Amino acid sequence: MDLKEKIRVIDGFPVDGISFKDITTLLKDAGALNECINQMAERFKDTQVDIIVGPESRGFILATPLAYVMNTGFVPVRKPGKLPGETIKYEYSLEYGMDSLEIHKDAIKPGQKVLIIDDLLATGGTMFAAAKLVEKLGGDVVGLGFLIELEDLNGREKLSDYKVESLVKYN
Ligand code: 5GP
Repeated sequence: MDLKEKIRVIDGFPVDGISFKDITTLLKDAGALNECINQMAERFKDTQVDIIVGPESRGFILATPLAYVMNTGFVPVRKPGKLPGETIKYEYSLEYGMDSLEIHKDAIKPGQKVLIIDDLLATGGTMFAAAKLVEKLGGDVVGLGFLIELEDLNGREKLSDYKVESLVKYN
């Protein structure tokens, strides 16, 4: 199955000039969702993974079923103030201003092998922040998986220290 055909592209969302990759059309299709999770599991079948991390919010949607299939637990990375327990924070700069992400301090044990999953790789800033949070806790980032990669934005370069897999590419 061609997963790209299941993704809807919406021009001008959320602002003019952006061509948004809408994965809701893939998610509502049982066969496509199944295929997406199975393809991701296949990409990491030879990688030892102890736990899967997903950044808010579309990362949650793909990371959790993958964790189920790969028989691991799931850990959320969230925007500030959303996680109820003690957290650590990673701050990073955007084109205009700053953003930050948090993870529970006790979410990852030192030495655990961690796979991080998100829906889309653009500049790589979100995934880089998630990887740094995992590493601050002593986790070993063994892979980064995306449903979609926007190749022109060179996010892969920012993530060059890691094994990066993506299922669907746009130029
Ligand atoms: P980055 O941090 O790599 O620049 O941006 C990636 C993040 O932005 C991901 O968490 C992703 O959910 C979100 N994102 C940016 N553009 C799109 C898009 O066109 N479609 C979807 N589904 N997510 C996007």
